[in-house]
Amino acid sequence: MIVMSLLTQWFVWLTNFIGVDKYLYHLRLSDETLMDVSVRFRREMDKGLCRDTNSTAAVKMLPTFVRSTPDGTEKGSFLALDLGGSNFRVLLVKVSVNGKQKVEMENQIYAIPEDLMRGNGSELFDHIADCLANFLDNLGIKNKKLPLGFTFSFPCQQTELDESILVSWTKGFKASGVEGKDVVSLLRKAIKKRGDFDIDIVAVINDTVGTMMTCGYDDHHCEIGLIVGTGTNACYMEEMRNLELVEGDEGRMCVNMEWGAFGDDGALEDLRTDFDLEIDAGSLNPGKQLFEKMISGMYMGELVRLILVKMAKEKLLFQGQTTPDLLTTGHFITSYVFAIENDKLEGLESAEQVLQSLGLNPSVEDCIATQRVCQIVSTRAAHLCAATLVAVLRQIRDNKAAERLRTTIGVDGSVYKNHPQFARRLHKMVRRLVPDCDVRFLRSQDGSGKGAAMVTAVAYRLATQHAERQRILDTLRLSHEQLLEVKKRMGDEMVRGLSKQHHKQASVRMLPSYVRSTPDGTEHGDFLALDLGGTNFRVLLVRVRSGKRRSVEMHNKIYGIPQETMQGTGEELFDHIVYCIADFLEYMGMKGASLPLGFTFSFPCHQTKLDQGILLKWTKGFRASGCEGEDVVMLLKDAIHRREEFDLDVVAVVNDTVGTMMTCGYEDPRCEVGLIVGTGTNACYMEEMQNVEMVEGDEGRMCVNMEWGAFGDHGELDDVCTEFDRIVDDCSNNPGKQRYEKMISGMYLGEIVRNVLLEFTAKGLLFRGKLSERLKTRGIFETKFLSQIESDRLALRQVRSILQHLGLTSSTCDDSILVKEVCSVVARRAAQLCGAGLAAVVDKIRLNRKLEHLRITVGVDGTLYKLHPHFSGIMKETVRALSPQCEVTFLQSEDGSGKGAALITAVACRIRH
Ligand code: ADP
Ligand code: MG
Repeated sequence: MIVMSLLTQWFVWLTNFIGVDKYLYHLRLSDETLMDVSVRFRREMDKGLCRDTNSTAAVKMLPTFVRSTPDGTEKGSFLALDLGGSNFRVLLVKVSVNGKQKVEMENQIYAIPEDLMRGNGSELFDHIADCLANFLDNLGIKNKKLPLGFTFSFPCQQTELDESILVSWTKGFKASGVEGKDVVSLLRKAIKKRGDFDIDIVAVINDTVGTMMTCGYDDHHCEIGLIVGTGTNACYMEEMRNLELVEGDEGRMCVNMEWGAFGDDGALEDLRTDFDLEIDAGSLNPGKQLFEKMISGMYMGELVRLILVKMAKEKLLFQGQTTPDLLTTGHFITSYVFAIENDKLEGLESAEQVLQSLGLNPSVEDCIATQRVCQIVSTRAAHLCAATLVAVLRQIRDNKAAERLRTTIGVDGSVYKNHPQFARRLHKMVRRLVPDCDVRFLRSQDGSGKGAAMVTAVAYRLATQHAERQRILDTLRLSHEQLLEVKKRMGDEMVRGLSKQHHKQASVRMLPSYVRSTPDGTEHGDFLALDLGGTNFRVLLVRVRSGKRRSVEMHNKIYGIPQETMQGTGEELFDHIVYCIADFLEYMGMKGASLPLGFTFSFPCHQTKLDQGILLKWTKGFRASGCEGEDVVMLLKDAIHRREEFDLDVVAVVNDTVGTMMTCGYEDPRCEVGLIVGTGTNACYMEEMQNVEMVEGDEGRMCVNMEWGAFGDHGELDDVCTEFDRIVDDCSNNPGKQRYEKMISGMYLGEIVRNVLLEFTAKGLLFRGKLSERLKTRGIFETKFLSQIESDRLALRQVRSILQHLGLTSSTCDDSILVKEVCSVVARRAAQLCGAGLAAVVDKIRLNRKLEHLRITVGVDGTLYKLHPHFSGIMKETVRALSPQCEVTFLQSEDGSGKGAALITAVACRIRH
């Protein structure tokens, strides 16, 4: 008997299901349809984000000026006001109590009398200020100027974090003189008028943002806020570069989507049923918030009621009967839906009670059918919500260019929290539509109250940290006056370095190069060049042609120098070099040829003539014995004689700086300065012979190899040096030496950056204070990363991947921005210091020649100069600012160390003939 009745009941259930389902066919959306809705919504998002289409977009995508989510290090006491929810409240929120990641709250609900809601705006704000005063009084904290966050849940046009203009009142409010005004200044005015307390209003937010921020405190992955309550809305962290309505491309900002308005431009017409049309027609705002009306708690019960009425009228329910209650708008409240959808039998009982309370006399079938109607309506709501959420998830995933997205959604609202099935259905559909995202849903606890305090706490943390970081970075920033001083001191050292008397004490050695002339274009012939001391050892054949077919043609071959040769005897090293030359000549089909040769030898040398260079000291890993203090030309010639295969006329020993100047001088006769910014930095220029006191003769000019990297070795830079420079110097192979170079060149910039990052991290200003082993490793931050990080557009993503390479996988978007800022400050200072030195050089040339105005070209080589996106620009700008009477053109040299040596040789041969 029992079995029989259960069976019948099941059968009735089933037929009812089929009946209702058929009847409500249009309310049931397939996966395909939902994906389609998702795609449509993504288009709406785009429309709202773009400057050109925003004004006509239904989904407004409002900027909130909330640029960061909590990182868990927030602390302090904050006030919050919550207006626009079910109650008006004042809160005191304590974040991170006793050093634990924890939040404590006190709050007080205050009434807002009807007449104030619809009366004069200034009276409303006076009332709010009164409530705040009362709250502070009660807690005895009126004398503390606490920061305050204001949750103001009405449609607003936000222009700053603490400036928000009310577009229009909703939810029964209608106070005059507030629409079109900034609600923060209205509140500030009201507080000032009282005059008995002061607070610092930091942020105004909407409840969706509050939800995201509240959940963000517990879960740092939270970057979406969702509300499904009386209304529905969502917000998420969008990339600034996609937010065309706000200046700036860096970082992220929370966007309040106002997604309830999806469909207001007709985008959902095909999905809206007669019931939806009817709800809208009977609402306070017809034609508006059409998506919200299909979903949120304000309409869910009413939708069910409309369906029941129609079914009753068509005699599908209640034997065709209706009652006055059933026919009255608003009498089927949304919480009935929650009750009816409880577990099958409990739910059926609820259905019976509800229907009876509406004056009906329902059969079992009626109850089952009613339950099914509720299910269909609430399922549609959950699924529509899923569809739009999926669009947001995809947007975020695309922004991050991630294969899989792992993210958290903070959720609040009565439908989500109280409906027995809504959350589960929503989660399930989201996961089905985007299987490649790991999504966590986190319920917010009092998002609208705590959230405002959290936004304020984050804003406070950001402000304090920002100030702290800027204080540190400011030590790396140089003023115009400081740069002028650097220029002046460089000028002084140059003079000292040139003078016979002071030469020995000068930090800048000003070595004569015996190069007396730059090319004039009549150079001609075939030359050999050797390049030792750069990244590779090379032998080159350079064919220089003059006249109509004026050109330089180069052939070169790279040779390895085995470690044991570098560190063996001088004879072995130079025998190897000569062997390479012989091999090269054979390779070029010129076996035994005798050609003039220029030798780029990039080690510090003392020269007494063009074809002599006394090696002062090996560097860069070379250690061959018996070379220091010897003339490298003699060492080379001896080796050539030992081989007895060919003879070479070694014409010049050249430093790479001079080579660079000569290479560029061949293209541009105005080029009289050479500059290198690569692994190291150095410069040379054409000085008047009369000033070159170390060399006999007063006629004409000579190129001086400044060896300027050593500027500062006598303390000339101590007042611009930072703790970071001192650390880098201390940890180098040559402490106390090459101080200027260590602030400028490729070998050191990455290290400076790394040390700043270490300091930031140790102070908890970066990477959430977590020091990785990788970051502690010397040399890990290569200077090429500075270039990559500062290159535009894709930058932040690249920064991330570089940080990942550094083992900082948990770095946030804010971290990336910071690292970029550090790189930019360090590179800027390098370029400015280099520019200051160069300004001294060009001004000296100008004064040598007693000119008002000098036009001159600087030939430049070095990977840092060539590949860093901003170095050259900043350097140029600095030279212009510091030496306004010089018009300086910069010319990049192509292979200065190879071609340059040949050209010097060519010039020397030309002059010789
Ligand atoms: P060298 O000075 O030894 O003759 P380079 O002029 O090629 O050689 O400079 C090499 C230096 O350039 C390296 O020490 C490195 O720090 C730096 N560097 C390499 N790539 C880049 C880059 N993309 N941006 C900036 N600096 C770079
Ligand atoms: Mg070089």
